[in-house]
Amino acid sequence: MPTPILSKRASIYSDVPDEKWNDWRWQLSHRLNTADDIGKVITLTDSERTALQTQGLFRVDVTPYFISLIDPNDPNDPVRKQIIPVSEEMNAFTAMMEDSLAEDRHSPVPGLVHRYPDRVLMLVTTQCASYCRYCTRSRIVGDPGQTFNRQEFEMQIEYLKRTPQVRDVLLSGGDPLVLAPKVLEELLTRLREIPHIEIVRIGSRVPVFMPMRVTQELCDLLARFHPLWLNIHVNHPNEITVELAEACDRLTRAGIPLGNQSVLLAGVNDCAHLQRELVQKLTRIRVRPYYLYQCDLVEGSGHFRTPVGKVFEIIEALRGHTSGYAVPQYIVDAPGGGGKIPVMPNYLLSMSDHKVIVRNYEGYVTTYEEPTEYVAHDPKSCKFCQNKRLEPGQTGLTGLLDGDQMFIKPEGFDALHDRGGIQHRLKDESKWKPLGIGAGEATD
Ligand SMILES: *Cc1c(COP(=O)(O)O)cnc(C)c1O
Repeated sequence: MPTPILSKRASIYSDVPDEKWNDWRWQLSHRLNTADDIGKVITLTDSERTALQTQGLFRVDVTPYFISLIDPNDPNDPVRKQIIPVSEEMNAFTAMMEDSLAEDRHSPVPGLVHRYPDRVLMLVTTQCASYCRYCTRSRIVGDPGQTFNRQEFEMQIEYLKRTPQVRDVLLSGGDPLVLAPKVLEELLTRLREIPHIEIVRIGSRVPVFMPMRVTQELCDLLARFHPLWLNIHVNHPNEITVELAEACDRLTRAGIPLGNQSVLLAGVNDCAHLQRELVQKLTRIRVRPYYLYQCDLVEGSGHFRTPVGKVFEIIEALRGHTSGYAVPQYIVDAPGGGGKIPVMPNYLLSMSDHKVIVRNYEGYVTTYEEPTEYVAHDPKSCKFCQNKRLEPGQTGLTGLLDGDQMFIKPEGFDALHDRGGIQHRLKDESKWKPLGIGAGEATD
C-alpha cells in the first residue's frame, strides 16, 4: 500500500528543533510574507517578485510547513501557485467581481450570510493560517482591520436565535480553526445553546496549512459540540502528507466526519487523472470528496480560471472508474448570488412514456422499463408531506412538482409578454395581430 508522503522541511528550517516545528504557535508566528523571506526558500520568478513587492495586494502569508511542500526549483509547482502571488493577479478580466457571490447582499447582520432556507454561513474571523491566491472572500479576508467584533458576534447570535428555520450553521471566514481556543469554545457553546441548531459545520484549511494545530486537545474540544462536521480544502495530491493523514485520523477518531472541498485551478489540478489520484488518496485518509468548485469570478483569480467544460472530462474520469465515495459533486457557485449549482455529464439520454434510455460510464446504452402500474404514496395521508419544512418563496422546482405553484416567472415576464396592450400602437397591424383569444380586439 503506498503511503502518503512524509513532508520534508525546506533547508532553512533544518536546524529548527522538532518541538518548535510541531508547535502551531511557532508555525503561525514564523509565517513568510516578503519577497526576501520567501526568496530564501524558493527561487522566485520575476512575476512573483513583482507581485510580492506590490503594495495593496491581497495579503500573503505562508506557514513554514506548507511552503516546505514546494519544490523550490519548479516555477510551476502546484502548491506554490496556490499561495505565492504572481503579477497576473493584478490583471482584470471580463466578468470579474469583488463579491462575486453577492454575499454582502444576503447578510442580515454583518458576517452572517443567509442564502439558503435552513442553513447559514457564519464568517467568524478574517484570518487564515495561509492565504489562497484565488480566495472568494479576498475582499475581507486577511485584513485584521475587518475582523468581526464582539458586538457583531452578538448580533449574529441574536439573528440565529430568532430564526428557527436555521438548523445548520457553517463556520467559515477566514479560518475558524485559527481562533484562540477560548474564543472557539465560546462560539461553539453559544451556538449549542440555541435548540433549533441541529448541526454545526466548520470549513477549514488549517489541517492542510498547519496540521500541527490539530492537537488531541483541539479534537477533544470539538468533540464536545457534536454533531459537528468538518470540511478541509485539499487541491493536489502533494498536500496529502503523513502529517495531514495523522491530523485527519485524530479528527475522525473524535467522531468528526471529514469532507473535502477543492477548487478547480488552471495549472494546479485541471487534470482528470490527477483528480482521480487526489480523490483516491483522500478516501484513504478517510476524507470524503464533497465539492469540486468552479473558480469564482473574483478579482485576482483570472489566471486560475478553467472552462466549465472541464467538468465533463473530470467527472467522466471518476464516476464508475473509482469508488462512488470518492466522486465529488461539481459546483458552479452562480455569480450574483445564485448559489451553488451542480453541473454534471448527462447519463439520462432519452425517455418515452414507458421507458428511459440511460448510459453508463463505459458508454453502454441501455433501457429501463418504467412500471406500468405505479401506485404512488398518498400525500394526503403522508405525515412528511403534511409537515414539509420548505421556506415559502424558496421552494423552487420542488414547489412546481408538489403542485404548490404552476410556474416560475422571470422578473418582467408579464410586462414583456403583454403584447396585446401595445399591439394597437404598432403600425403594421397585420404582422403583429395576436392569434387566438382576443384576436380582432386589438384594432383601432
Ligand atoms: C456554500 C454555502 C452554504 C452551504 O451549502 P451546502 O451546499 O449545504 O454545503 C451555505 N450558505 C452559503 C451562503 C454558502 O455559500
